[in-house]
Amino acid sequence: MSETKEKSQAALLKEKLFVNRKNGCRKVSAEEMKKADEFCEEYKNFLDHAKVEREAVIYALDAAKIAGFTEYDPAKTYKAGDKVYVNNRGKAVMLAVIGKNGTHNGVRLGIAHIDSPRLDLKPNPLYENKDLALFKTHYYGGIKKYQWPTVPLALHGVVALKDGSSINIEIGEDESDPCFCVTDLLPHLAVEQMSQVMTKAFNGEHLNVLVGSRPFNEDEESESVKLNILNILFEKYGIVEEDFLSADLQMVPAFKARDLGFDRSMIGAYGHDDKVCAYPALMAAIDTDMPESTIITVLTDREEIGSDGNTGMKSTYLIDFVADLAESDGEKARHVMAKSTCLSADVNAAYDPTYASAFEANNSSFINCGAVITKYTGSGGKYSTSDASAEYMAKIRQVLDNAGVLWQTGELGKVDGGGGGTIAKFVANLNADVVDLGVPVLSMHAPMEVVSKLDVYMTYRALYEFYTA
Ligand code: MN
Ligand code: MN
Repeated sequence: MSETKEKSQAALLKEKLFVNRKNGCRKVSAEEMKKADEFCEEYKNFLDHAKVEREAVIYALDAAKIAGFTEYDPAKTYKAGDKVYVNNRGKAVMLAVIGKNGTHNGVRLGIAHIDSPRLDLKPNPLYENKDLALFKTHYYGGIKKYQWPTVPLALHGVVALKDGSSINIEIGEDESDPCFCVTDLLPHLAVEQMSQVMTKAFNGEHLNVLVGSRPFNEDEESESVKLNILNILFEKYGIVEEDFLSADLQMVPAFKARDLGFDRSMIGAYGHDDKVCAYPALMAAIDTDMPESTIITVLTDREEIGSDGNTGMKSTYLIDFVADLAESDGEKARHVMAKSTCLSADVNAAYDPTYASAFEANNSSFINCGAVITKYTGSGGKYSTSDASAEYMAKIRQVLDNAGVLWQTGELGKVDGGGGGTIAKFVANLNADVVDLGVPVLSMHAPMEVVSKLDVYMTYRALYEFYTA
């Protein structure tokens, strides 16, 4: 065999000066790849049990309690190493590990969101038309409406009753359960539909979910198909039509997370955005034992609709918690926030060769190239985004490189191609340093999204190293 060929001067200089854009699979060891695959086994289980934010909170609290987290009590004093959680209405959760320096040098924040695009039931959803029973829906988050018809759907959520009790509902996930779907027109009769622009061909009022077709009995009453559905719901859950008013019910894709590709290198699932960052953030919080500064992991709600609402990042719930922690250290929240740093853990669009014209390849994130750092999101002339400072970017590069975490950078598509945002700007507006870091996703916001196992694991490692650096 020949000896190793000596590298040319240009090759050596390239190595020194160029960004190394090799596929991450060529950069990591077989052992690390195995760890990534193992990490993703439980991630898939999380996806199957946390399709909506309430379920993600339940999963997170169960895991946190096992790891020694207890409910935060502002009246108590905590010492370094203590682990506490705050449950915000069952729809968002914060996990903190008290650091050796407490909040004196600021806190380290890792924030991901646990809501995903879906079809919410309207407050008065059930109706009958020509002997079919259907649910009216109001979509939540940015969806391409044409993707949702003919996909098997499951119903998740909670119905709150006037007596103060609540009923949890999950129908369509078990193989033996019925599922639901939005119907679509057959191609034979779709001449007019197919000639329309997509936004016209499928609008929000088309997203009606088929839920039944048999009448109650032989009585010639009107709306007896609807009556039959209400009767089934009454017998099973004790609810009547008016109870839909006090419910959070969501239709989500009914299928489970699955390995994708002959090589099983990827995962196809509903809700990667942003469970694919929430799960690594949760695991990083659980694995962090005695950090220098207090770490706070936030699994927040309402990101997909702009973070408005009491469980979203425009709410004061995070800053109020920081204020409580600061006070017990004899600090002021504003001084703590000014010294705090944050990884806003959210996804970015992975480069898709089929839709190459939407991307600018030099500044896109790629599947299997590691956690993606997104300096800014927004749209147009950098509107509606924070822009991480040069100094903070340098600090994050240092943390990740010192720990050998595989990472890359990416913008959200090409300039003026559209745009989007994350919670980074809301945290930046609280006067902390923040940058987005997360997983590149193919088919983002579709009923089935795709991520790479290696990237999921590297996002966990990035968050863990950020917490413990
Ligand atoms: Mn997101
Ligand atoms: Mn999103």
